[in-house]
Amino acid sequence: MPQINSILIATRNPGKVREIAAMLGRQGIHAVTLADLPMLPEVDETGTTFMENAAKKAGEYAAAAGLYSLADDSGLEVSALGGRPGVLSARYAGESAGYEIKIRTLLAELAEAGSSDRSARFVCSMAFADPGGKVIWTAEGICEGELAASPLGTNGFGYDPIFVPAKYDRTFGELDDDVKRSISHRARATDAFMRFFLDFIGV
Ligand code: IMP
Repeated sequence: MPQINSILIATRNPGKVREIAAMLGRQGIHAVTLADLPMLPEVDETGTTFMENAAKKAGEYAAAAGLYSLADDSGLEVSALGGRPGVLSARYAGESAGYEIKIRTLLAELAEAGSSDRSARFVCSMAFADPGGKVIWTAEGICEGELAASPLGTNGFGYDPIFVPAKYDRTFGELDDDVKRSISHRARATDAFMRFFLDFIGV
């Protein structure tokens, strides 16, 4: 069994860091963040799939830091748009465009496509690499849903105000954080990671 004291959470999203750090903390494992290691070179997201990007970030940050590292990559896939914006979710409608603009552009593109299919899914790929940079575990979490006609609610972030998860009739922007935390793509991938990880360290 590997003796692991610290894991690098290779993300700059403070919400993700908090969520994962809390779970690791319960096992007595310290979460190191990219903010703790400012000397690490930035890893570019040049992959064409969520998994390619997650594996690239986990492997390259692990090798650079010499630490077990967990990374993820996520985004929104809209069926009628052939899965777009997908890996380009954060860069859709221009990197510097805010989410009001990204959402408006996405709804306009969907209307232009002329399809009545509003189905969409959030996808989160996660990868875990050893201190040598070798990816030793991956998983994908998916949250199916539909796009609302217009943005509603202020909870969450990104595309949450237009995403209505399956079996609900309100957007992630309107639903409580607790609901999102229990059914989201990221929650599913994180749960899978914790199941793998507890087994890996022999708990
Ligand atoms: P990243 O995985 O942090 O690179 O996120 C990619 C992008 O996907 C985000 O900037 C958002 O645009 C979108 N995204 C990923 N997860 C969520 C979510 O839970 N809610 C809303 N938007 C999301």
